[in-house]
Amino acid sequence: MARIVQKFGGTSVGDLDRIRNVAQRVKSCVEAGDEVAVVVSAMAGTTNQLVEWAKQVGPMHDAREYDAIVSTGEQVTVGLLSIALQNIGVDARSWLGWQIPLRTDEVHGAARIEEIQADEIIKRLEQGQVAVVAGFQGIAPDGRISTLGRGGSDTSAVALAAAIQADRCDIYTDVDGVYTTDPRIMPKARKLDSITFEEMLEMASAGAKVLQTRSVAMAMRHHVNLQVRSSFTDAPGTLVQNEEKQMEKQKVSGIAYSAEEAKITVVGLPDKPGIAAKIFGVLADLHINVDMIVQSASADLQKTDITFSLARIDLEKAVSDLTNLKDELAFERLVHDNNIAKISVIGTAMRTQSGIAKRMFEVLSEKQINMQVISTSEIKISVLIQADYTELAVRSLHDAFELDKIG
Ligand code: ASP
Ligand code: MG
Repeated sequence: MARIVQKFGGTSVGDLDRIRNVAQRVKSCVEAGDEVAVVVSAMAGTTNQLVEWAKQVGPMHDAREYDAIVSTGEQVTVGLLSIALQNIGVDARSWLGWQIPLRTDEVHGAARIEEIQADEIIKRLEQGQVAVVAGFQGIAPDGRISTLGRGGSDTSAVALAAAIQADRCDIYTDVDGVYTTDPRIMPKARKLDSITFEEMLEMASAGAKVLQTRSVAMAMRHHVNLQVRSSFTDAPGTLVQNEEKQMEKQKVSGIAYSAEEAKITVVGLPDKPGIAAKIFGVLADLHINVDMIVQSASADLQKTDITFSLARIDLEKAVSDLTNLKDELAFERLVHDNNIAKISVIGTAMRTQSGIAKRMFEVLSEKQINMQVISTSEIKISVLIQADYTELAVRSLHDAFELDKIG
């Protein structure tokens, strides 16, 4: 007997038949004697529609009302799944964020989970009742509904797994695991049987959309055993686990990309303390996530340039706010480009093996792809390139590192 959290994404609950199918999966776990808490997303497409409506009615809307609107998709699916379970003889009830309660901070639209009071849910699980929990939502200190940011139900699931001390958190989605790269652009991509938390974290933040980045970080912190599986097949998925458990080390585990990046260069800034703090302070106030940052060494110790990358959707906002500060910051001009992609080569083996960066740069140069910015971490090398070369870069790197031979 185990205590399990099962999370089903939007496509897995995309219509009534699929919801019935999910109910059957839950039922088989219950029959095997497991205690099951289920976390669901809204039906595929629903949240997009709700966000769109909110924007149309008020482009600069009140974030608390935005949350009231966009959290409703999950309210529908928890109710439907609970009924589907009851219909096949499984004791189940739905839980909205505020009913648990799952407490968050006050940042409506992008809230962080602060606490989950899980006593009642645990009591019911022990009595054999399935808890069907709405992902993506919680209750803010002001007593109003909050949401966790797009894709947030993965984070809800992991947080719940930690709170109820689940043995496992299974994330059911429309792919059957984590791949060496996106199979839609590289047919030779292979499914990984396992991946380390750190690699998964890098993959997620580098653009692989299987799991929300925050959920992986949380799983790593709270030692939650994560598994990514398909809700449409019985194939084993990918285990996300600690590095010590990893038996075999391949050179590179995956190639991730994000083709929705933009780049800003602030040209001719005074080279003195406090300038970078000011620029990134402005962006932080706008809740804009900045990714890569490079500052060029100034030759004359007078002027310098700072280049950074950010999500393409944030470009306009960032440019307009920085432009307003032109006099205060005393820079010469802003240069921006919205047609940028980030390509990352990821693998824990990089800690101990050399030559991976060299090989990556060779491959890109053979294909005449220009690297605009390079950054590295212990287990990742990322480059910014022109977005039109994304597919070529991913395929060439996948071939060069022989990722089709994994597994
Ligand atoms: N329904 C929310 C979204 O589409 C949360 C999720 O699916 O994870 O962003
Ligand atoms: Mg999702």
